[in-house]
Amino acid sequence: MATKAEFLEHLDGVLAGIERDGLFKRERLIASAQGTHVAMAGREMLNLCANNYLGLADDPRLVAAAEAAMRGHGYGMASVRFICGTQDIHRTLEARLAAFLGKEDAILFAACFDANGGLFEPLLGPEDAIISDALNHASIIDGIRLSKARRYRYANSDMGDLEAQLLKAREDGARFIMIATDGVFSMDGYLAKLPEITALAERHGAMVMVDDCHATGFMGPQGRGTPAHFGVEVDILTGTLGKALGGALGGYIAGPQAVIDLLRQRARPYLFSNALPPAVVGAGLAALDIVEAADDLRARLFDNARYWRAGLEAAGFRLLPGEHPIVPVMLGEARLAQAMARDLGERGVHVAGFFFPVVPQGQARIRTQMNARLTKGDLDFGLEAFAAAGRAVGVI
Ligand SMILES: *Cc1c(COP(=O)(O)O)cnc(C)c1O
Repeated sequence: MATKAEFLEHLDGVLAGIERDGLFKRERLIASAQGTHVAMAGREMLNLCANNYLGLADDPRLVAAAEAAMRGHGYGMASVRFICGTQDIHRTLEARLAAFLGKEDAILFAACFDANGGLFEPLLGPEDAIISDALNHASIIDGIRLSKARRYRYANSDMGDLEAQLLKAREDGARFIMIATDGVFSMDGYLAKLPEITALAERHGAMVMVDDCHATGFMGPQGRGTPAHFGVEVDILTGTLGKALGGALGGYIAGPQAVIDLLRQRARPYLFSNALPPAVVGAGLAALDIVEAADDLRARLFDNARYWRAGLEAAGFRLLPGEHPIVPVMLGEARLAQAMARDLGERGVHVAGFFFPVVPQGQARIRTQMNARLTKGDLDFGLEAFAAAGRAVGVI
């Protein structure tokens, strides 16, 4: 029998292995609000790696709404929703989200990780099937694992494979079939092929669930997300308040009334975890007010994305194609991505390198993300730093 000391030694060995493989993640301290610029180690840095697409994370209107909600509704709920944790503003936010997304109702969770974690298990049983894109977010993968439904996986956005899995699930006698996909695959910035997915679902009698975390608020008309962008309907949407909708935290599921009603009875992260704090709910309502009227911010966001892409391409970097404000700069090896991120940091640009296991081996990258509030001056500064860092590490 191994001792506790041996267990901790074993963990030290695992950590040393992560370090040896160049995969160790270090957190850098921000000493300011999240914004287009952040204070790090006493220095102001241009920030190109937050999911702060509309720049609302430090918006004074959200701060004021959070303060007002705390004054009227207090700091914390000290309860789950169904015991004594539901305030009027929780229901108001759920109704607003449902209306915004064109669904019958919505249910809040502490995070979208919890929404995806709690979604599948109450809705689908061992007679049913879930067909999941291979690049889906970790929370979808975990949520599916927690359900008893049969699992099928299709290669990322491979519609032939999706159809093969639909046929297989039918052959295996599945009662209900649900296709689960990210609306946007966040490592690549690629959009799910929702027109094809919804057509296949229709043909094979399946339902479609879309996790639209990297789209709600800015993709599609009024920022209603990838289904709106493509002009299609999906059955269930999940999303977060932690990205474009203010960037704090909080997740939700929107869908048909019966789905939301059953989740309120059975979804474990909802039943056994605290209600969202009033400040987050109040600011979430303010974020929706802003987002619904934010065509100007959305135009600036996509204008910035086009300008940034064109500048990086002109400098000779290899990008993944697309129009989403996620712009990945492909570098190959993890160490190269880390060296480049470090070099950019020294030049006053904060970016994050992504490498295995978050992306496949040999496809390390720096994922840059645009924000509506970045100015052309900011972007030119960033482009100069990228060109200099790219030459310093030898990728251009
Ligand atoms: C960010 C993200 C989540 C997690 O959202 P949280 O609210 O931060 O838990 C889930 N799914 C996708 C696709 C995401 O990008």
